[in-house]
Amino acid sequence: MKNFVCAALIIASCFTPIFAIDMSKEIDTAAAKVLPQVIEWRRYIHQHPELGNREVETSKLIASKLREFGIEVRTGIAKTGVVGILKGGRPGAVVGLRADMDALPLTERVNVPFRSTVTTEYNGQTVGVMHACGHDSHVAMLLGTAKVLSEMRAEVPGTVVFIFQPAEEGAPVGETGGAADMVKEGVMDNRRSMQFSVCTLRPRSRSERSAGNLRDSWRRVTGSPSRSRVRVRTGLIHGTALTLLLSRHRSTPACK
Ligand SMILES: [Zn+2]
Repeated sequence: MKNFVCAALIIASCFTPIFAIDMSKEIDTAAAKVLPQVIEWRRYIHQHPELGNREVETSKLIASKLREFGIEVRTGIAKTGVVGILKGGRPGAVVGLRADMDALPLTERVNVPFRSTVTTEYNGQTVGVMHACGHDSHVAMLLGTAKVLSEMRAEVPGTVVFIFQPAEEGAPVGETGGAADMVKEGVMDNRRSMQFSVCTLRPRSRSERSAGNLRDSWRRVTGSPSRSRVRVRTGLIHGTALTLLLSRHRSTPACK
């Protein structure tokens, strides 16, 4: 469970160097306090997954939470994308934080109380829908971060833009969507000095690993180049997790 708050802390800690005063303890405390809600949001989103460009209810949930935190909200960007804008109480740059929202056309086979039983039509077939790529966690972590930063907005330098991107896994056949459409619709028009993406970092449990999920097991995601040798022996793997590993192998400071 701590993984969720870890990511929120990592993101929030990015702001620590630019706070006028050291806020790291306050951020730690606030992140620990929001953890139960982050877990609750993540489980709800996990149980109600939606495919790319169809994230209607996920979008409504995000917008309503951001408004609850007193954050300015823009909806309907690239169809179902949401952007939250938090203006801090101190002068400073614009910082973007981004999470993806869509699920995959896969049937969930893990027997947890919040498992997805959702099915839908996809390419002419009835398929299960599942958050198999961690976007449920990404959304929940970014909401948690938005709550934490909104509670200390007086100390936040500049503006934080929370970007919730639809269709990261690709738009349905015959449609456009995702990051490219968000950019076309102006989401990056503000000059931004830094941009971060939310990413799940570690397997959440031994059972999850044994269920076949492969995730990045480094303790932190950093912006520094690194070299790693990875040997993958598996029958089936989701592409983005492999991309993350390979991107590090190529010494690219990337995290999806
Ligand atoms: Zn993904």
